[in-house]
Amino acid sequence: MNPLPRIDIDTQVIRRNAQFLCNRLGRVGISVTGVTKGVGGHPAVAQAMLDGGVVGLADSRLDNVMRLRTAGITCPISLIRAPMRAEMAGVVAYCTNSYNTELETIALLGAAALAVGRVHGVMLMVEVGDSREGLLLRDLPAFVSAVHRHSGLRLDGVGVNFACLSGVPPTTAALLYLCAAIATAESASGIRIPQLSGGNSASLPLLLTGPDHARVNNLRLGESILLGCEPVSGRLINGLSDTAFGLVAEVIESSHKSHRVTVATTRPVDISNQVVLALGSQDTDIQGLGFPLGCTLAGSTSDHSVLDTGKRRRTVGSEVALTMNYSALSRAMAVTAISKRLCVKPQPAVGVARRPSVLLRA
Ligand SMILES: *Cc1c(COP(=O)(O)O)cnc(C)c1O
Repeated sequence: MNPLPRIDIDTQVIRRNAQFLCNRLGRVGISVTGVTKGVGGHPAVAQAMLDGGVVGLADSRLDNVMRLRTAGITCPISLIRAPMRAEMAGVVAYCTNSYNTELETIALLGAAALAVGRVHGVMLMVEVGDSREGLLLRDLPAFVSAVHRHSGLRLDGVGVNFACLSGVPPTTAALLYLCAAIATAESASGIRIPQLSGGNSASLPLLLTGPDHARVNNLRLGESILLGCEPVSGRLINGLSDTAFGLVAEVIESSHKSHRVTVATTRPVDISNQVVLALGSQDTDIQGLGFPLGCTLAGSTSDHSVLDTGKRRRTVGSEVALTMNYSALSRAMAVTAISKRLCVKPQPAVGVARRPSVLLRA
């Protein structure tokens, strides 16, 4: 059962994190969409988010959405990365709506929807300073009209993204500016824009503590639900847990040697215990791992990682428990050679420093 390397997943923690965020945000009229791209659309994790109260799911990859549908999940699912040319029919078939920034793509989606007698929802992603994807605010009225005119399409709302590419979190000023632009587009077109999806986990500090959340009535949350943390500061959000996932790797060599031997001085310096793990950069983002107390990463290659274990010797065949940041998690979850085990409590990475927490009032 469950060969190594292995990811332990505690779905109860994910459900509780989702529940906490849904309750807090629900009080200020904001619904939560659970983002599953960090777990490759793992159905049990998605179900835990739904059990915690998210109103729908979102993923950036159509493959992941199809995985959720195949597992029998029937809730609304959004595609949060704009579709590629070959994906139009699949997006219309499996996704309730999709986030879009190009008129040409929107027209292709509309045609694909009409071809099968469906209506596909469109969320218009606007650029408000993150400089990743998004249409310009001045083009919003034209996009709103184009979606509204198309009988194969339905305008579901407007979305924004903060802190993805730029690392810049949202501000009240940016949200108010956005709301003014939405109001302008509404009066220019005579069309109401129902949803304003105000960003990802980086929007939480502002929307949970800010006095005015403007018209934001939805957030798309991945990292905060999965890892309990706020992505810009990397800090744990008070009330959330960071123990949902654990990565376990096997020691395949244990030795007492130095990794600091140089060509010039063949005399070993700083001798300590060292292990080689059967886990490499093909499996995960090694830089995004947390190691047990007293262990430091000496280096890694595609299939091996070398740990300096200090005074402690670890035996060949033993397990080493590691923590993962979001980057490490999303890569490891996508690797089929890493087994996934649902359990009540992941094996703890003993002594790994817990993140300092940040207090969010609401
Ligand atoms: C990844 C992503 C999210 C979720 O971001 P988190 O920081 O994990 O909450 C939301 N929206 C879009 C468009 C994304 O790509």
